[in-house]
Amino acid sequence: MSQARLPYGRQEIAAEDLAAVEACLRSERITQGPRVREFEAGLEQVSGAPHAVAVSSGTAALHLLYQALGVQAGDVVVTSPITFVATANAARYLGAEVVFSDVEPDTGLLDPVDLERTLARLAQARRQPRLVVPVDFAGQPADLPRIADLAAQAGAQVVSDAAHSLGASYEHAGRTVQAGSCTHSVGAIFSFHPVKHITTGEGGAALTRDPEVRDRLLALRTHGVHRDAERLVRPRDDVWAGPWYYEQDQLGYNYRLTDLQSALGCAQLARLDDFLARRRRLAARYDAALAAAPFAGRLAVLGLRPQRRSSYHLYVLRVLPAPGEAARDVAARRRDLFLHLQRAGIDPQVHYIPVPWQPFHRDDAPLPGAEAYYAGCLSLPLYPSLSDADQRRVLEALADWVG
Ligand SMILES: *Cc1c(COP(=O)(O)O)cnc(C)c1O
Repeated sequence: MSQARLPYGRQEIAAEDLAAVEACLRSERITQGPRVREFEAGLEQVSGAPHAVAVSSGTAALHLLYQALGVQAGDVVVTSPITFVATANAARYLGAEVVFSDVEPDTGLLDPVDLERTLARLAQARRQPRLVVPVDFAGQPADLPRIADLAAQAGAQVVSDAAHSLGASYEHAGRTVQAGSCTHSVGAIFSFHPVKHITTGEGGAALTRDPEVRDRLLALRTHGVHRDAERLVRPRDDVWAGPWYYEQDQLGYNYRLTDLQSALGCAQLARLDDFLARRRRLAARYDAALAAAPFAGRLAVLGLRPQRRSSYHLYVLRVLPAPGEAARDVAARRRDLFLHLQRAGIDPQVHYIPVPWQPFHRDDAPLPGAEAYYAGCLSLPLYPSLSDADQRRVLEALADWVG
Protein backbone atom coordinates (compact mmCIF):
# COMPACT_ATOMS: atom_id res chain seq x y z
CA MET A 1 0.00 0.00 0.00
CA SER A 2 1.46 3.33 -0.95
CA GLN A 3 0.65 6.27 1.32
CA ALA A 4 0.49 9.86 0.11
CA ARG A 5 3.70 11.77 0.78
CA LEU A 6 3.41 14.35 3.52
CA PRO A 7 4.74 17.80 2.57
CA TYR A 8 5.92 20.31 5.20
CA GLY A 9 3.09 22.70 4.29
CA ARG A 10 0.20 23.02 1.89
CA GLN A 11 -2.91 25.05 1.09
CA GLU A 12 -6.48 24.24 2.13
CA ILE A 13 -9.01 24.78 -0.64
CA ALA A 14 -12.68 24.23 0.19
CA ALA A 15 -16.00 24.51 -1.65
CA GLU A 16 -16.40 28.12 -0.36
CA ASP A 17 -13.17 29.07 -2.11
CA LEU A 18 -14.30 27.57 -5.41
CA ALA A 19 -17.70 29.30 -5.12
CA ALA A 20 -16.08 32.68 -4.38
CA VAL A 21 -13.71 32.43 -7.34
CA GLU A 22 -16.46 31.23 -9.67
CA ALA A 23 -18.74 34.11 -8.64
CA CYS A 24 -15.94 36.53 -9.41
CA LEU A 25 -15.25 34.91 -12.80
CA ARG A 26 -18.93 35.35 -13.70
CA SER A 27 -18.92 39.01 -12.65
CA GLU A 28 -17.95 42.15 -14.58
CA ARG A 29 -14.63 42.76 -12.90
CA ILE A 30 -11.96 40.13 -12.54
CA THR A 31 -8.89 42.35 -12.08
CA GLN A 32 -9.46 45.69 -10.32
CA GLY A 33 -12.89 45.21 -8.85
CA PRO A 34 -14.49 45.63 -5.44
CA ARG A 35 -13.04 42.46 -3.93
CA VAL A 36 -9.51 43.88 -3.67
CA ARG A 37 -10.66 46.57 -1.26
CA GLU A 38 -12.88 44.04 0.55
CA PHE A 39 -9.86 41.78 1.08
CA GLU A 40 -7.75 44.73 2.26
CA ALA A 41 -10.45 45.69 4.77
CA GLY A 42 -10.46 42.10 6.05
CA LEU A 43 -6.70 42.21 6.51
CA GLU A 44 -6.96 45.53 8.37
CA GLN A 45 -9.52 43.93 10.66
CA VAL A 46 -7.53 40.78 11.53
CA SER A 47 -4.19 42.55 11.91
CA GLY A 48 -5.37 45.82 13.42
CA ALA A 49 -3.16 47.75 10.97
CA PRO A 50 -4.87 50.97 9.85
CA HIS A 51 -4.04 50.49 6.14
CA ALA A 52 -3.53 47.37 4.02
CA VAL A 53 -2.52 47.45 0.35
CA ALA A 54 -2.92 44.12 -1.44
CA VAL A 55 -0.21 43.31 -3.98
CA SER A 56 0.91 40.46 -6.23
CA SER A 57 3.28 38.79 -3.74
CA GLY A 58 4.92 39.19 -0.36
CA THR A 59 8.10 40.07 -2.21
CA ALA A 60 6.31 42.89 -4.07
CA ALA A 61 4.99 44.11 -0.70
CA LEU A 62 8.55 44.29 0.68
CA HIS A 63 9.81 46.05 -2.44
CA LEU A 64 7.04 48.67 -2.41
CA LEU A 65 7.21 49.24 1.34
CA TYR A 66 10.99 49.71 1.31
CA GLN A 67 10.64 52.12 -1.61
CA ALA A 68 7.71 54.00 -0.05
CA LEU A 69 9.84 54.45 3.09
CA GLY A 70 12.57 56.06 1.03
CA VAL A 71 15.16 53.29 0.72
CA GLN A 72 17.62 54.31 -2.00
CA ALA A 73 20.88 53.20 -3.55
CA GLY A 74 23.64 53.14 -0.95
CA ASP A 75 21.28 52.92 2.06
CA VAL A 76 21.72 50.23 4.69
CA VAL A 77 18.92 47.78 5.53
CA VAL A 78 19.52 45.55 8.56
CA THR A 79 17.75 42.20 8.65
CA SER A 80 17.90 38.61 9.87
CA PRO A 81 19.99 35.94 8.13
CA ILE A 82 17.29 33.36 8.94
CA THR A 83 14.61 34.36 6.46
CA PHE A 84 13.56 33.72 2.90
CA VAL A 85 15.87 35.51 0.43
CA ALA A 86 13.04 37.91 -0.52
CA THR A 87 13.51 39.99 2.67
CA ALA A 88 17.04 40.87 1.55
CA ASN A 89 16.37 40.90 -2.21
CA ALA A 90 13.82 43.70 -1.90
CA ALA A 91 16.54 45.96 -0.49
CA ARG A 92 18.88 44.97 -3.31
CA TYR A 93 16.21 45.87 -5.94
CA LEU A 94 16.61 49.45 -4.68
CA GLY A 95 20.42 49.37 -4.66
CA ALA A 96 20.60 49.26 -0.86
CA GLU A 97 23.17 47.28 1.08
CA VAL A 98 21.98 44.49 3.37
CA VAL A 99 23.62 44.02 6.77
CA PHE A 100 22.76 40.78 8.56
CA SER A 101 22.47 40.81 12.34
CA ASP A 102 22.57 37.52 14.24
CA VAL A 103 19.68 35.39 15.53
CA GLU A 104 19.03 33.56 18.79
CA PRO A 105 20.06 29.96 18.06
CA ASP A 106 16.99 28.44 19.73
CA THR A 107 14.29 30.63 18.11
CA GLY A 108 15.80 31.77 14.81
CA LEU A 109 14.61 35.30 15.72
CA LEU A 110 16.70 38.46 15.43
CA ASP A 111 18.70 38.74 18.68
CA PRO A 112 18.22 42.21 20.20
CA VAL A 113 21.59 41.95 21.98
CA ASP A 114 23.41 41.35 18.71
CA LEU A 115 21.28 43.99 16.97
CA GLU A 116 22.53 46.55 19.48
CA ARG A 117 26.12 45.60 18.58
CA THR A 118 25.36 45.72 14.85
CA LEU A 119 23.82 49.20 15.15
CA ALA A 120 26.76 50.41 17.26
CA ARG A 121 29.20 49.16 14.59
CA LEU A 122 27.24 51.00 11.90
CA ALA A 123 27.20 54.19 14.00
CA GLN A 124 30.95 53.94 14.45
CA ALA A 125 31.33 53.71 10.67
CA ARG A 126 29.00 56.77 10.38
CA ARG A 127 26.42 54.75 8.49
CA GLN A 128 22.87 55.43 9.61
CA PRO A 129 20.69 52.46 8.63
CA ARG A 130 17.43 53.33 6.90
CA LEU A 131 15.49 50.25 8.02
CA VAL A 132 15.62 47.36 10.46
CA VAL A 133 13.54 44.40 9.26
CA PRO A 134 12.84 41.70 11.87
CA VAL A 135 11.15 38.48 10.70
CA ASP A 136 8.45 36.74 12.76
CA PHE A 137 10.14 33.44 12.10
CA ALA A 138 7.92 30.32 11.95
CA GLY A 139 5.00 32.39 13.28
CA GLN A 140 6.54 33.66 16.54
CA PRO A 141 6.66 37.47 16.68
CA ALA A 142 10.13 38.95 16.99
CA ASP A 143 10.87 41.15 20.03
CA LEU A 144 9.35 44.14 18.25
CA PRO A 145 9.08 46.57 21.21
CA ARG A 146 12.79 46.20 21.95
CA ILE A 147 13.83 46.22 18.32
CA ALA A 148 11.74 49.37 17.75
CA ASP A 149 13.58 51.14 20.60
CA LEU A 150 17.00 50.13 19.28
CA ALA A 151 16.09 51.15 15.73
CA ALA A 152 14.74 54.53 16.89
CA GLN A 153 18.00 55.24 18.76
CA ALA A 154 19.90 54.46 15.55
CA GLY A 155 17.61 56.71 13.47
CA ALA A 156 16.12 53.78 11.53
CA GLN A 157 12.53 52.76 10.89
CA VAL A 158 11.19 49.23 11.44
CA VAL A 159 9.42 47.06 8.86
CA SER A 160 8.02 43.81 10.23
CA ASP A 161 8.28 40.83 7.89
CA ALA A 162 5.12 39.09 9.13
CA ALA A 163 4.92 36.61 6.23
CA HIS A 164 4.79 33.79 8.83
CA SER A 165 2.74 35.42 11.55
CA LEU A 166 -0.77 36.23 10.33
CA GLY A 167 -2.86 35.56 13.47
CA ALA A 168 0.07 35.63 15.91
CA SER A 169 0.30 38.12 18.79
CA TYR A 170 2.39 39.28 21.73
CA GLU A 171 1.70 40.96 25.05
CA HIS A 172 3.08 44.43 25.59
CA ALA A 173 2.31 46.90 28.40
CA GLY A 174 -0.74 44.89 29.38
CA ARG A 175 -2.15 44.76 25.87
CA THR A 176 -2.34 42.07 23.22
CA VAL A 177 -0.64 43.26 20.03
CA GLN A 178 -1.45 41.51 16.74
CA ALA A 179 1.38 40.60 14.36
CA GLY A 180 1.31 42.92 11.36
CA SER A 181 -0.55 45.62 13.30
CA CYS A 182 2.32 48.13 12.85
CA THR A 183 2.20 48.94 16.59
CA HIS A 184 6.00 48.74 16.84
CA SER A 185 6.84 49.28 13.18
CA VAL A 186 5.93 51.77 10.49
CA GLY A 187 4.95 48.95 8.16
CA ALA A 188 4.58 45.19 7.85
CA ILE A 189 4.04 42.60 5.13
CA PHE A 190 2.07 39.38 4.71
CA SER A 191 2.43 36.70 2.03
CA PHE A 192 -0.34 34.56 0.60
CA HIS A 193 1.83 31.95 -1.10
CA PRO A 194 0.14 28.50 -0.83
CA VAL A 195 2.31 27.36 2.10
CA LYS A 196 1.38 30.38 4.23
CA HIS A 197 -1.66 30.64 6.54
CA ILE A 198 -4.08 31.73 3.83
CA THR A 199 -3.50 31.74 0.10
CA THR A 200 -4.41 33.70 -3.03
CA GLY A 201 -2.10 31.59 -5.24
CA GLU A 202 0.59 34.23 -5.34
CA GLY A 203 -0.17 37.34 -3.34
CA GLY A 204 0.82 39.59 -0.49
CA ALA A 205 -0.02 42.77 1.36
CA ALA A 206 1.84 45.77 2.68
CA LEU A 207 0.45 47.24 5.90
CA THR A 208 1.18 50.61 7.42
CA ARG A 209 -0.04 53.02 10.03
CA ASP A 210 1.06 56.04 7.97
CA PRO A 211 -1.58 57.30 5.47
CA GLU A 212 1.12 58.96 3.34
CA VAL A 213 2.97 55.67 3.04
CA ARG A 214 -0.35 54.05 2.07
CA ASP A 215 -0.83 56.62 -0.72
CA ARG A 216 2.71 55.99 -2.01
CA LEU A 217 2.09 52.24 -1.95
CA LEU A 218 -1.11 52.66 -3.97
CA ALA A 219 0.64 54.75 -6.62
CA LEU A 220 3.67 52.44 -6.87
CA ARG A 221 1.39 49.39 -7.17
CA THR A 222 -0.05 50.77 -10.42
CA HIS A 223 2.78 52.19 -12.56
CA GLY A 224 3.09 55.45 -10.61
CA VAL A 225 -0.03 56.86 -12.29
CA HIS A 226 -2.74 58.87 -10.54
CA ARG A 227 -6.01 60.72 -11.30
CA ASP A 228 -5.83 63.04 -8.30
CA ALA A 229 -7.20 66.41 -9.64
CA GLU A 230 -5.18 68.46 -7.17
CA ARG A 231 -1.87 67.00 -8.31
CA LEU A 232 -2.45 67.01 -12.07
CA VAL A 233 0.12 69.13 -13.92
CA ARG A 234 -2.35 69.66 -16.78
CA PRO A 235 -5.83 70.46 -15.39
CA ARG A 236 -8.76 68.28 -16.47
CA ASP A 237 -10.49 71.21 -18.19
CA ASP A 238 -7.47 71.73 -20.48
CA VAL A 239 -8.36 70.94 -24.13
CA TRP A 240 -5.73 68.16 -24.12
CA ALA A 241 -7.23 66.58 -21.01
CA GLY A 242 -10.68 65.30 -20.00
CA PRO A 243 -12.46 62.58 -18.02
CA TRP A 244 -9.97 59.97 -19.37
CA TYR A 245 -6.93 61.88 -18.25
CA TYR A 246 -4.30 60.49 -15.86
CA GLU A 247 -0.69 61.34 -15.20
CA GLN A 248 2.39 59.36 -14.30
CA ASP A 249 4.67 61.37 -12.04
CA GLN A 250 6.97 58.59 -10.78
CA LEU A 251 8.21 55.17 -11.81
CA GLY A 252 5.89 52.44 -10.50
CA TYR A 253 5.09 48.81 -11.23
CA ASN A 254 2.24 46.50 -12.03
CA TYR A 255 2.10 44.77 -8.64
CA ARG A 256 -1.69 44.54 -8.41
CA LEU A 257 -3.51 41.61 -6.83
CA THR A 258 -6.49 40.61 -8.97
CA ASP A 259 -10.14 40.58 -7.95
CA LEU A 260 -10.09 36.86 -8.67
CA GLN A 261 -7.29 36.35 -6.16
CA SER A 262 -8.93 38.70 -3.66
CA ALA A 263 -12.16 36.65 -3.86
CA LEU A 264 -10.11 33.61 -2.87
CA GLY A 265 -8.35 35.63 -0.17
CA CYS A 266 -11.66 36.77 1.39
CA ALA A 267 -12.99 33.20 1.46
CA GLN A 268 -9.72 31.99 3.03
CA LEU A 269 -9.63 34.80 5.58
CA ALA A 270 -13.09 33.79 6.79
CA ARG A 271 -11.58 30.43 7.86
CA LEU A 272 -8.34 31.80 9.34
CA ASP A 273 -9.40 31.11 12.94
CA ASP A 274 -10.11 27.45 12.13
CA PHE A 275 -6.76 27.14 10.34
CA LEU A 276 -4.93 28.67 13.31
CA ALA A 277 -6.74 26.48 15.85
CA ARG A 278 -5.84 23.31 13.95
CA ARG A 279 -2.19 24.38 13.51
CA ARG A 280 -1.93 25.14 17.23
CA ARG A 281 -3.47 21.81 18.19
CA LEU A 282 -1.05 19.91 15.95
CA ALA A 283 1.89 21.96 17.28
CA ALA A 284 0.89 21.23 20.90
CA ARG A 285 0.84 17.52 20.10
CA TYR A 286 4.28 17.67 18.46
CA ASP A 287 5.53 19.62 21.51
CA ALA A 288 4.23 17.02 23.95
CA ALA A 289 5.65 14.08 21.98
CA LEU A 290 9.07 15.67 21.49
CA ALA A 291 9.40 16.54 25.19
CA ALA A 292 9.16 12.86 26.12
CA ALA A 293 11.13 9.66 25.45
CA PRO A 294 12.71 8.76 23.10
CA PHE A 295 13.21 12.34 21.88
CA ALA A 296 13.96 14.37 25.03
CA GLY A 297 17.58 15.55 25.06
CA ARG A 298 18.17 14.53 21.40
CA LEU A 299 15.64 16.67 19.55
CA ALA A 300 14.20 19.96 20.75
CA VAL A 301 11.37 22.20 19.70
CA LEU A 302 11.84 25.79 18.66
CA GLY A 303 12.23 28.11 21.65
CA LEU A 304 9.06 30.08 22.39
CA ARG A 305 9.47 33.29 24.40
CA PRO A 306 7.01 34.24 27.14
CA GLN A 307 4.26 36.70 26.22
CA ARG A 308 4.28 35.61 22.57
CA ARG A 309 1.66 33.53 20.80
CA SER A 310 2.86 31.84 17.64
CA SER A 311 0.64 31.28 14.63
CA TYR A 312 2.76 28.22 13.72
CA HIS A 313 3.42 28.80 10.07
CA LEU A 314 6.18 26.20 10.44
CA TYR A 315 6.83 23.47 12.95
CA VAL A 316 10.59 23.50 13.36
CA LEU A 317 12.47 20.92 15.36
CA ARG A 318 16.14 21.15 16.21
CA VAL A 319 18.68 18.34 16.30
CA LEU A 320 20.49 19.13 19.55
CA PRO A 321 24.28 19.12 19.73
CA ALA A 322 25.86 16.58 22.07
CA PRO A 323 28.14 18.28 24.64
CA GLY A 324 31.05 19.82 22.73
CA GLU A 325 29.73 18.65 19.32
CA ALA A 326 30.75 20.90 16.41
CA ALA A 327 28.03 22.56 14.30
CA ARG A 328 29.08 20.67 11.16
CA ASP A 329 28.62 17.33 12.96
CA VAL A 330 25.13 18.40 14.04
CA ALA A 331 24.48 19.42 10.41
CA ALA A 332 25.57 15.95 9.24
CA ARG A 333 23.06 14.31 11.59
CA ARG A 334 20.31 16.71 10.52
CA ARG A 335 21.06 15.84 6.90
CA ASP A 336 20.77 12.14 7.77
CA LEU A 337 17.41 12.76 9.49
CA PHE A 338 16.12 14.68 6.46
CA LEU A 339 17.00 11.78 4.14
CA HIS A 340 15.54 9.25 6.59
CA LEU A 341 12.19 11.09 6.62
CA GLN A 342 12.20 11.31 2.82
CA ARG A 343 12.61 7.54 2.62
CA ALA A 344 9.60 7.24 4.96
CA GLY A 345 7.42 9.24 2.53
CA ILE A 346 7.72 12.54 4.37
CA ASP A 347 9.03 15.72 2.77
CA PRO A 348 10.43 17.96 5.48
CA GLN A 349 12.15 21.24 4.67
CA VAL A 350 14.98 23.33 6.03
CA HIS A 351 14.08 26.93 6.91
CA TYR A 352 16.33 28.67 6.18
CA ILE A 353 19.79 28.49 4.66
CA PRO A 354 21.36 31.66 6.14
CA VAL A 355 20.89 34.32 3.45
CA PRO A 356 24.54 35.53 3.67
CA TRP A 357 25.58 31.99 2.67
CA GLN A 358 23.94 32.54 -0.73
CA PRO A 359 26.55 33.28 -3.38
CA PHE A 360 24.66 36.44 -4.43
CA HIS A 361 24.44 37.84 -0.89
CA ARG A 362 27.75 36.41 0.26
CA ASP A 363 28.96 37.89 3.51
CA ASP A 364 31.56 36.06 5.59
CA ALA A 365 31.05 38.04 8.80
CA PRO A 366 30.59 35.41 11.53
CA LEU A 367 27.01 34.76 12.65
CA PRO A 368 27.40 32.01 15.25
CA GLY A 369 23.73 32.09 16.23
CA ALA A 370 22.58 31.59 12.65
CA GLU A 371 25.12 28.81 12.08
CA ALA A 372 24.12 26.95 15.25
CA TYR A 373 20.44 27.36 14.39
CA TYR A 374 20.87 26.27 10.76
CA ALA A 375 22.93 23.19 11.70
CA GLY A 376 20.02 21.52 13.49
CA CYS A 377 16.77 22.91 12.09
CA LEU A 378 14.20 20.83 10.25
CA SER A 379 10.56 21.72 9.46
CA LEU A 380 8.03 18.91 9.95
CA PRO A 381 4.66 18.63 8.18
CA LEU A 382 2.21 21.19 9.59
CA TYR A 383 -0.99 22.29 7.85
CA PRO A 384 -4.67 22.23 8.80
CA SER A 385 -5.57 19.04 6.88
CA LEU A 386 -2.68 17.05 8.37
CA SER A 387 -4.61 14.25 10.10
CA ASP A 388 -3.85 12.81 13.50
CA ALA A 389 -2.82 9.58 11.74
CA ASP A 390 -0.47 11.54 9.42
CA GLN A 391 1.10 13.19 12.44
CA ARG A 392 1.59 9.80 14.11
CA ARG A 393 3.37 8.63 10.95
CA VAL A 394 5.77 11.57 11.26
CA LEU A 395 6.45 10.86 14.95
CA GLU A 396 6.99 7.14 14.25
CA ALA A 397 9.51 7.95 11.52
CA LEU A 398 11.31 10.29 13.94
CA ALA A 399 11.33 7.65 16.69
CA ASP A 400 12.72 5.16 14.21
CA TRP A 401 15.62 7.54 13.45
CA VAL A 402 16.35 8.37 17.08
CA GLY A 403 16.46 4.57 17.61
C1 LIG B 1 7.13 33.80 1.80
C2 LIG B 1 8.00 34.83 2.38
C3 LIG B 1 8.27 36.06 1.74
C4 LIG B 1 7.86 36.37 0.33
O1 LIG B 1 6.58 36.11 0.02
P1 LIG B 1 6.13 35.73 -1.49
O2 LIG B 1 4.66 35.91 -1.40
O3 LIG B 1 6.54 34.30 -1.71
O4 LIG B 1 6.79 36.66 -2.42
C5 LIG B 1 8.99 37.01 2.43
N1 LIG B 1 9.48 36.78 3.65
C6 LIG B 1 9.29 35.60 4.27
C7 LIG B 1 9.86 35.39 5.64
C8 LIG B 1 8.57 34.58 3.65
O5 LIG B 1 8.43 33.39 4.25
